[in-house]
Amino acid sequence: PADVETLGRSTWTLLHTIAAQYPTQPSPGQQADIKGFMGILSRLYPCWVCAKDFQKFLATSPVRTASRDDFGRWLCAAHNEVNDKLGKPQFDCNMWEERWRTGWKD
Ligand code: FAD
Repeated sequence: PADVETLGRSTWTLLHTIAAQYPTQPSPGQQADIKGFMGILSRLYPCWVCAKDFQKFLATSPVRTASRDDFGRWLCAAHNEVNDKLGKPQFDCNMWEERWRTGWKD
């Protein structure tokens, strides 16, 4: 449905933008914030089937928070998991920062 798509696009924008602004050397508190945020999001996300699958993904692939690149690539993998499920193309995770932080080079 259209609202699940709009919600999804908006949420990925928020999440990848958070990753883009996440510190390169996060403190333990900042790492705990991201872990807590993703766990809460997986329980509150207002698309029930999406939330359920996202909780499963989190259980098998714990959030990686050691650095901006670590979190950005983990998030890219999480997004690719959903892309795969929906039959959408895989995104090249080497490009995540260019897409979401520094801007495409062309
Ligand atoms: P989106 O997938 O929303 O992507 C937006 C933009 O992000 C793309 O245009 C591209 O530039 C960029 N991008 C794409 N892949 C990546 C990546 N791997 N890393 C970085 N950037 C990328 N929808 C369902 O129908 N069923 C579900 O179970 C479901 N689960 C979801 C779970 C979560 C946690 C979230 C946030 C969304 C979920 N969605 C689900 C929504 C779905 O992922 C899409 O957001 C929606 O289908 C709209 O897709 P889109 O083609 O506009 O691009």
